Amino acid sequence: MIRKKFYLLVRKTPNSIKKRCSSCFVKIHSSLYIDDPKEKNLYKRVLVYVRGDRAKTYHVTFKFFNVDPEKKEDLRQKECWVHCSCPFFKYNLEVVLAKTGNSSVIKSNGDLPVVRNPNMIPYLCKHINKSYAKAINEKATEVEKV
Ligand SMILES: [Zn+2]
Repeated sequence: MIRKKFYLLVRKTPNSIKKRCSSCFVKIHSSLYIDDPKEKNLYKRVLVYVRGDRAKTYHVTFKFFNVDPEKKEDLRQKECWVHCSCPFFKYNLEVVLAKTGNSSVIKSNGDLPVVRNPNMIPYLCKHINKSYAKAINEKATEVEKV
């Protein structure tokens, strides 16, 4: 399966979503390189807390695949896996992104979002959109084997 690159998901995100979450607060939980035998190369995994407009905190996970810690790389150009624990992600995006390996069915029942995202457009919720720049910039120093 070929996962989409991160910048393509950013590009597909509607401007109305990008404008939301002006008061969201982003806090990095952890940033690591992961050595997973199921993957050819290391990936960078960043876990983030995003406190939303209604003071609820959601968990966002980023994985940027095929990274080389020795090089300065643009992670937007990497294939990615993303997930957010918010209801919007669950009902609009989780199944759509899971189709291309860009997420996994974790919270939803796996049904296609026929009403909320009928054209199956792969994009980002406001929490992922708000936090990705910080996640990309956050240094990862350790390599964890899984
Ligand atoms: Zn979200």
